[in-house]
Amino acid sequence: MLSNNTEFKKLLLLHGKDRRKRTMELELSNSPNLISSIENKIDVEEKTIESARNELSLLEAKSNSLENEIDSISDQVSRLKNKQLEVKKNEEYQALINEISCTQKQQSSLEDEQLQILIKLDDARETLKIAQDKISNKVKHLQNEKSQLSDRIDDLKNEISKLDLEIIDSIKDVDNSLLASYEQTKKIVSRPPYIAPLKEQKCTGCNLRVSNDVVSSVLVEQKLTQCDQCGRIVYCER
Ligand SMILES: [Zn+2]
Repeated sequence: MLSNNTEFKKLLLLHGKDRRKRTMELELSNSPNLISSIENKIDVEEKTIESARNELSLLEAKSNSLENEIDSISDQVSRLKNKQLEVKKNEEYQALINEISCTQKQQSSLEDEQLQILIKLDDARETLKIAQDKISNKVKHLQNEKSQLSDRIDDLKNEISKLDLEIIDSIKDVDNSLLASYEQTKKIVSRPPYIAPLKEQKCTGCNLRVSNDVVSSVLVEQKLTQCDQCGRIVYCER
């Protein structure tokens, strides 16, 4: 039987290494995308903190400017009250009373506004703190993921170089005509496996039923045979 044939076993060994290399190459080629997607996630998290921080600074600036306004308006009220003591004419006195009342109203409305801002400031500080705690954990986790991925890339490159050498050795071992058929199959079939066992008269490479001729060629004639559906080399494991 072909699968017991020593030469064929050598070909299977080469095929196994080719497949492992191909899997690793796919993983390697996908790695930069994974890394940049992690970097994007880190960026988004950091921007969230930045925007919470900006919101807080805006509120702080607003609160400071209100504080100054209130200070100056309260100075103004004091000045008006002092002036009140000096005026003699009744009309001037009334006019001052009106002005003071008007200024005090302004002051009171600014103080209301300041109170609202102070409440918002408390909320914004709390939000920033929660965001920082939560996000710094997330970012740490993402950075860890990124560094593991970089290590994996190094490992993959090493493994692929080692496999390249092993593949060269395996190729030397394989019978030339088997090797030629195998290389030819690799050109026809777009994706591995290039060699697939038959199961219940189906090619396990394409999952389609092969003809009786194919089965007989494999089992009876024990020849190197290709699936009549997909072109893969087929064999019987038992
Ligand atoms: Zn097939």
